Amino acid sequence: MATIDFKNVQKSYGEVHAIRDFTLHVEEGDFCVFVGPSGCGKSTALKMLAGLEATTGGTISIGGRDVTDAGPGKRDIAMVFQNYALYPHMSVRSNIGFGLKMRGQDKAEINRRVEAAAETLELTDYLDRRPRALSGGQRQRVALGRAIVREPSAFLMDEPLSNLDAKLRVQTRSEIVNLQKRLGVTTIYVTHDQVEALTMATKIVVMRGGVIQQIGSPETLFAQP
Ligand code: ADP
Ligand code: ADP
Repeated sequence: MATIDFKNVQKSYGEVHAIRDFTLHVEEGDFCVFVGPSGCGKSTALKMLAGLEATTGGTISIGGRDVTDAGPGKRDIAMVFQNYALYPHMSVRSNIGFGLKMRGQDKAEINRRVEAAAETLELTDYLDRRPRALSGGQRQRVALGRAIVREPSAFLMDEPLSNLDAKLRVQTRSEIVNLQKRLGVTTIYVTHDQVEALTMATKIVVMRGGVIQQIGSPETLFAQP
C-alpha cells in the first residue's frame, strides 16, 4: 500500500495539452477512479504514473518517494490492461508467474505466490490450462493474477473490463472491488463509464479536457437531487 501524489503534472504531445495541471492526493488503500469522456487525458495520467510516458512538468510520488524520473520497473506498481496480454502458448501458471521469473525469483517462491494468487482468484483448477481454454472472465482473472503475485504497493487499471460482455462486466466489477478490499492495495482505475466509477470507487476524479473538474466520494459527487 502506498499514497500517490501528482503535483502540478503536465503532459504535452507537441501542440496537444493532454494534461494541463493535474494535482491529486490518493490515500493508502483508496480505490480511486479517473472518469471522463474519451480524450480527456485519463490514460495519459495513468501512463505517467506507471512511468510509461514522461511528464512535461510537475512531480509524481508513490509512497512519498519522488518517482517522476524513475523507470517503470522502479515504481513498485502493477498494471492491468483491457487486452489481457496473456501469452497464448503458456499455461495459466506460467502466465501468472512470468513477471516474477523475469525478475529472477526462485522457483519455490514463484510457485508459492502463484498458488496463493490462484486460490485468491479461484483459478486453482485451471493452472495447467492455456488461456484459450478459459472463459473471458477467467482470462481477466489471470491478468489480475499477474498483477497480484507481484505484491505491489499500487494497482493501475486501464479500462480492464471493456472487452467483457455486459453481464460479465458487472460480475468482474464486484470481483475486482472485493479483491482490492481484501488486499487493501491502493488502486487507480481508469474508465469512461460513470456507473463503474460510482459502484467501484472510494474516490472519484472527474476529468475533462486535461484538467480535474471535481474530486469526491461517490456519495458526495453524484448524490445531488
Ligand atoms: P483518455 O484516456 O481520457 O481517452 P488520453 O489520455 O488517451 O485520453 O488522451 C488525451 C489527449 O492526448 C487526447 O487528445 C489524445 O489524442 C492525446 N494523445 C494521447 N496520446 C498521444 C500521443 N502518443 N501522441 C499525440 N497525442 C496523444
Ligand atoms: P511486468 O509487468 O513486470 O513487465 P510482465 O509479465 O507483464 O511483467 O511482462 C514481462 C515482459 O514481457 C515485459 O517486458 C513486457 O513488455 C513483456 N510482455 C508482457 N506481455 C506480453 C505479451 N503478451 N507479448 C509479448 N511480450 C509481453
